[in-house]
Amino acid sequence: MEGAMSDPGLRAYRASVRAWLSQAVFPKVGSNMEETYAANRAWHKQLAQAGWLGVNWPVEYGGQGLSTLHQMAAMEELARGGAPLPLAIVNLYVVGPTLVSWASQAQKQRFLKALLHADEIWCQGFSEPNAGSDLASLKTRALPDGSDFIINGQKIWTSQAQFADYCAVLARTDTASNSHAGLSYFIVDMKSPGIRVRPIEQLTGDAMFNEVFFENVRVPAANIIGELNEGWKVAMRSLASERSIIMAQRKAEADAMFQWLLQVLKSRYPKGEGLPPHLSWRLGHARMQLAALDAQVRDLVDRLQRGSEIAGEESLDKLILTDVEQEVFALAFDQLGPYRQVPGGRPPAMDAAHMIHEFFYSRSRSISGGTTQIQRDIVAKRLLKLPSS
Ligand SMILES: Cc1cc2nc3c(=O)[nH]c(=O)nc-3n(C[C@H](O)[C@H](O)[C@H](O)COP(=O)(O)OP(=O)(O)OC[C@H]3O[C@@H](n4cnc5c(N)ncnc54)[C@H](O)[C@@H]3O)c2cc1C
Repeated sequence: MEGAMSDPGLRAYRASVRAWLSQAVFPKVGSNMEETYAANRAWHKQLAQAGWLGVNWPVEYGGQGLSTLHQMAAMEELARGGAPLPLAIVNLYVVGPTLVSWASQAQKQRFLKALLHADEIWCQGFSEPNAGSDLASLKTRALPDGSDFIINGQKIWTSQAQFADYCAVLARTDTASNSHAGLSYFIVDMKSPGIRVRPIEQLTGDAMFNEVFFENVRVPAANIIGELNEGWKVAMRSLASERSIIMAQRKAEADAMFQWLLQVLKSRYPKGEGLPPHLSWRLGHARMQLAALDAQVRDLVDRLQRGSEIAGEESLDKLILTDVEQEVFALAFDQLGPYRQVPGGRPPAMDAAHMIHEFFYSRSRSISGGTTQIQRDIVAKRLLKLPSS
């Protein structure tokens, strides 16, 4: 893996990302969530135009046709340079790869480029008030009516639904079934009559996720992705390569936060003098976790590049990443004390407000994208082949 990572082509590629970044003007935090959202959306578009997003997507859909290693390298350089994340995470890492794998040619042509450039924002309507970990028990129904389907039901925790143009909705189309079978994956236009979005405030103070209500919402049958009643396969299509990219990006962010914290602590405790033992233990532990995650993600990408099957490794990555993020941001939050007020002088992603926001947001990482308990279950069953009971 070392060989691949230090490939001269990749080194030059990394240098080109850094050169671009040195000229870039980062978006400013707005006075409210809408302003910040607009600034971050413009930043996402800049990243896409520069070719740093969808690096490993086919050229015909707006990508660069390069390797997953190139995409990872771009994300690592952006995060190391203090650049904010691309805004439309659901577009890039959830819906986009699903459409690349499952959509018809016409659907790909229609949606992928706009999605990559955040010209259209997507949300994912899977979870319901009584269907999260046990997603297959979802109750939202889509019943046929001529060449359309009529959707009724409720989704919850739908990130960015209030800004979304489209929603990827998982709904029951075979009402005789109450399990994985009989679900279908729909593209739903969020401007359709009958959709109501109600934001939910989070610990961070933002209201980035929402309840979404569907009341007799008409959707053309042509908006089904994959086969009718086969939506589970589409929904579960986990493109491990995409997950490893987002892992790499988030790991690089946690790493950058950790480096910043070290610098601040070095100025407080020159040569480590006076550094409380419990703090040095936590720092060492976080450093080890970061190194383990780095090795894990690189191994995963290497295996993907070689075409190996992945079955459960990404759950292990998510477990380590969740621990690392929560520990690094908690460390920063706990230890900076009055240094939380340290103004400017750092890349914007490292300012105090960002750090506090990320600390609160990191608490949700053990729930979003599948809870820690469920990931442990997957690791136990698929990787360790342990018996169910
Ligand atoms: C920040 C954030 C953003 C999100 N964005 C989206 C989104 O855009 N779209 C979307 O569809 N959803 C989204 N979600 C929802 C997320 O996918 C669910 O919250 C998650 O799948 C857990 O479901 P739940 O909340 O219903 O909890 P539950 O499934 O009710 O779980 C409650 C608790 O029970 C535990 N548990 C459940 N079943 C088992 C089991 N079999 N064994 C052991 N323990 C178990 C869980 O680990 C958890 O601790 C988001 C969530 C968060 C926090």
